[in-house]
Amino acid sequence: MPAEIIDGVAIAAKVRARVAEETAELRKRGVTPGLTAVLVGDDPASGVYVASKERACKEAGMNGKSIRLPASTSEEALLLLIDTLNNDPTVHGILVQMPLPKQISEQKVIRRIAPTKDVDGFHPFNVGKLFTGDADGFAPCTPAGVQVMLEEAGVETAGKDAVIIGRSNIVGKPMAALLIQSGKNANCTVTICHSRTKDLLAHTRRADILIAAIGKPEMVTGDMVKPGAVVIDVGINRVDDPAAPKGYRIVGDVHFEQVSKVASRISPVPGGVGRMTIAMLLANTVRAARLTLEH
Ligand code: NDP
Repeated sequence: MPAEIIDGVAIAAKVRARVAEETAELRKRGVTPGLTAVLVGDDPASGVYVASKERACKEAGMNGKSIRLPASTSEEALLLLIDTLNNDPTVHGILVQMPLPKQISEQKVIRRIAPTKDVDGFHPFNVGKLFTGDADGFAPCTPAGVQVMLEEAGVETAGKDAVIIGRSNIVGKPMAALLIQSGKNANCTVTICHSRTKDLLAHTRRADILIAAIGKPEMVTGDMVKPGAVVIDVGINRVDDPAAPKGYRIVGDVHFEQVSKVASRISPVPGGVGRMTIAMLLANTVRAARLTLEH
């Protein structure tokens, strides 16, 4: 039987509807959640991401702004802008689109954002909270979105072997931190694999939940997956396809055709995790706005 699809579009729409409701409630209390995205340089892909984040905010009734700076912007100028946003009470979430031009240290920028406005969840303060299981912080949006997908799809996580391929700070490591906690939608036994992992197959074949965050088109093939496993594909890769209208198509890190014959549930690309990332960014921003009323 082919795997059941975990529909990121539908789950993200649900999250966004919840965000819109919470936003309406906060607006009644005099607070309009606001997210400001900062884009340095003119990378077209980053421009598209920032524009879609701004649009999603507006659709949810939030204030979505973007600030575009030239590629020649100095580190000092960007840090001063972050200080201004940190002190602006109408801004609840700050997002600096990565990658940054090479004259700017990404670490310094991440550290300058007030942890209470760090809705990307990259500040070491929030990373620490995530690892220690303190739900007060902000978790990075993509892995947080994966966890919501598992929950919404009714996947039991407790006691399960979760294998994550990829150890980046934005996906693999925080994904592991979320699933390893004791609590709801977690309690997994987690393994993180990477390019130096010896015998990747031995790990992936025993995964009850397999999460691919590699950046290699269709690398996870059917023979790597345990029958009945739940497979989540985080990858977004552009591959040439002369037959496609744009000359390329988007595929994940999982070979969908093969793996969907082996897995019990699978998230597709597109229409999977990608949709969750922005939805979780909005959810984090609304929570940041709510916290200003509580403190
Ligand atoms: P990174 O390039 O930062 O990390 C990739 C990881 O995969 C690394 O840890 C790397 O290992 C590991 N890896 C590479 N090749 C192999 C291999 N042959 N075997 C085992 N492990 C391997 O990528 P990101 O984490 O930023 O992103 C991963 C994917 O997810 C990309 O396709 C990206 O586009 C997508 N993505 C999607 C998002 C969404 O919203 N859906 C958001 C963010 C990312 P090592 O550390 O040893 O190099």
